[in-house]
Amino acid sequence: MKEIKKELREKFSKTCRSMILTGVCKGTCCGVVPIKKEIVIINHNKIQVKPKEIHYFDSKKVCMICEDMLCPFLNRRTRDCAIHEDRPEICRNYGLIPILQCPYINMKGNKRSEAKQRRQLRLLGHEIDNKIKIMENSSPNKDYANRR
Ligand code: SF4
Ligand code: SF4
Repeated sequence: MKEIKKELREKFSKTCRSMILTGVCKGTCCGVVPIKKEIVIINHNKIQVKPKEIHYFDSKKVCMICEDMLCPFLNRRTRDCAIHEDRPEICRNYGLIPILQCPYINMKGNKRSEAKQRRQLRLLGHEIDNKIKIMENSSPNKDYANRR
């Protein structure tokens, strides 16, 4: 079982690499991600871009927000993760579980057809819009929408 999972991860990451190398994907799944404080502290020298804001996600995790809304540990040129060995669980599972599907690669690690990529991107767009609406409605500061 462990071997099958490892093989799938390797296949997925190979396809992911080719999506980036061919410019189909710009590595945009590496956005604002909650990361354990201890991981941030031990890897502080690997930060690629200084975040402009740091928010506490809960008592153990922080969300670091950069100007470009990408993760501070993402190498903007190579699109590599500077803390690959220490990356959070959410990053390890990205694309491999139903609620975190990659728009470009299916859960078997195969490249999606262009029509399916467009469909997944549309779904992702709706999901993000819905999350923003929930945040706006629950935000005590109604100016939130104007600050985006
Ligand atoms: S969105 Fe998909 S293809 Fe792009 S970097 Fe993330 S996992 Fe790879
Ligand atoms: S920790 Fe690494 S894999 Fe996770 S979002 Fe940041 S750069 Fe991407």
